[in-house]
Amino acid sequence: MTTLHRSTCPHDCPDACGLLAEVEEGRVVAVRGDPDHPYSRGTLCPKVNHYERTVNHPGRLTHPLVRAGPKGEGTFRRVSWEEAIDLVAGRWRAIAAGAGAEAILPYSYAGTMGLVQRNAGHALFHRLGASRLARTICSPAKSAGFQAVLGATPGPDPSLVERASLVVLWGVNAAATNVHFLGLVKAARRAGAPVWLLDTYRTATAAAADRVFLVRPGSDGALALGLLHLLVREGLADERFLAAEALGWEALKERILPDHGPARTEALTGLDEAAQLDLARGLATSPAPFLRIGEGLSRYGNGSMNVRAIVALAAAAGVLARPGGACYGGSTTGDAFDLERFTRPDLQPRPTRVVNMVRLGEALTTLDDPPIRALCVYAANPAAAAPDQGAVRRGLAREDLFTVVHERFVTDTARFADVLLPATASLEHPDLYRSYGHYFVQRARAAAAPPGEARSNWDLFRALARALGFDEPLFGLTTDQVIDLLLEGPSPWRDRLDRAALDAGRAVPLAVPPGPRWRTPSGRIELRNDALAEPLPRWLPSHADAGAHPLRLQTGPSLYSLNSTFTEREDLDRPRGPLRVRLSPADAAARGLSSGDRAVAWNELGELRLPVEVTGDVPAGIAVVEGVHPDRAGERPGNVNLLTSRRLTDEAGGSTFYDNRIDVRRDG
Ligand code: SF4
Repeated sequence: MTTLHRSTCPHDCPDACGLLAEVEEGRVVAVRGDPDHPYSRGTLCPKVNHYERTVNHPGRLTHPLVRAGPKGEGTFRRVSWEEAIDLVAGRWRAIAAGAGAEAILPYSYAGTMGLVQRNAGHALFHRLGASRLARTICSPAKSAGFQAVLGATPGPDPSLVERASLVVLWGVNAAATNVHFLGLVKAARRAGAPVWLLDTYRTATAAAADRVFLVRPGSDGALALGLLHLLVREGLADERFLAAEALGWEALKERILPDHGPARTEALTGLDEAAQLDLARGLATSPAPFLRIGEGLSRYGNGSMNVRAIVALAAAAGVLARPGGACYGGSTTGDAFDLERFTRPDLQPRPTRVVNMVRLGEALTTLDDPPIRALCVYAANPAAAAPDQGAVRRGLAREDLFTVVHERFVTDTARFADVLLPATASLEHPDLYRSYGHYFVQRARAAAAPPGEARSNWDLFRALARALGFDEPLFGLTTDQVIDLLLEGPSPWRDRLDRAALDAGRAVPLAVPPGPRWRTPSGRIELRNDALAEPLPRWLPSHADAGAHPLRLQTGPSLYSLNSTFTEREDLDRPRGPLRVRLSPADAAARGLSSGDRAVAWNELGELRLPVEVTGDVPAGIAVVEGVHPDRAGERPGNVNLLTSRRLTDEAGGSTFYDNRIDVRRDG
């Protein structure tokens, strides 16, 4: 007998799609899109179509394991859960008694987006007094850039794009990372709205665009300032709106914009004056323009300033003034749930050391006072996905580092584990999901039995809390009770929440709380923000604007994996294709390379051996490597993150994955 279960895609993707799982005798036999989900409307991306192949994959971990060979070799022997928990609790207790609990570091990110399983370790590590992890690997600089200008103003409804008169996709490869939003964009295009794409190379999203503007990596802020200059020169700025709603327009006009004429903008961005004018006029005169800002342009040394300048452009062009106009960076539901009821920072004995996850390699290899002696990894795969990969792997290979990994598969990180614990997949545990790409929230129940002895993140940390003697009532709660705890805390976002529909598993809308139009300290759009070290948006160079190597490395997303997830799926290997470097015909010819040749991509951080693809989609001066590929047997370990640095963004300590230089030479 087949039963149908509603659930949510748990992956780090703004779409947070609704799933329907067909279950027979406790086993998921098929997964499809839920036609009743108000945003994803019954479709899924190629990664999650046939999600049952992930859930039932023969490579799933089923029993606790402990290391039985050299570090990193991936040789383990089976133990019971009781032995594994006792071993971990005992080692942590000994390390805390010797070096101090700050010698223990949790490392987790968005391997699952469920509010319970994603945040499952926080309370335990706070109670232990462990080092805290600054979870900055994605796009905190983007948030900082938006907040500098718009404070806590909620983002618009993304479905507004369907009625736009012009869609500008600025630095977003939606075909890979936001497919349902791209569906709405295509609907707008069918209704007559031109779609313009700004990016550093022709991504898969270019196929959905009427016009593609290619800009130099990291020059987005310079382009925004150049367009602001043209708005002033052409009399296109919305002066009445700015006088009524914004602070600092006169200062920006007088002190910053005169230096950003078209010639300098072309020199910095590569876009000529005619293209600059088209962009400025389009944004300023189209009746209902929808400007979508992506994450990638914030992953540079000037990332926050790039975003800040683009949001200032949206204000000055009147995009924020016109009904139907929108500047969208994501949905902003941060206040909808009081997560601290669950993560319990108050359990810390004192505010403990903070380690930036972007600098894990440095932390594992150089940090002192105390050195990190124990690492606990869950919902993350730093050996593949963290920058400065050489240092990360040298750190993970330390014999004196005690590493616990909780995973579904033997990932590149799991091979370095001293204790490797089997984790449930999302269809095997309950959770509560919100989205960073729409305003619906969904409660999912477990649909299927886990394989073997796999446990959810929360059940793991509850067991460890018991073994460590922590008796706070929180650690006695089940996952469903934690979800209820999160739903009980007051929030105006949930005042009109349909709790019965939520508890029945349906996606239900959060309501943006009423409040002022601009939720900034001044109540106005803050083009000038005196609380910041840089009160006005201005041009900042990116890290790699200077550097010895001739090619700017762009590490784009793949359509068939999500960071390092889905790389276990052999059926996705073929469409994803092998790890490869994509070069322009000019750069390939200059190096005597043709498609299919083996090459070495290298810089001061490392070397990566991989085949070449020569393509006109990549401009000269750029090398593109898409996807976070896993190690392959018989090949040298490592992926593109051997070449990405641990340098940080200008604000918020974010990653700078797109801000590196390399060179490429023929292999051998
Ligand atoms: S990865 Fe994104 S687009 Fe694909 S099913 Fe999950 S939420 Fe939807």
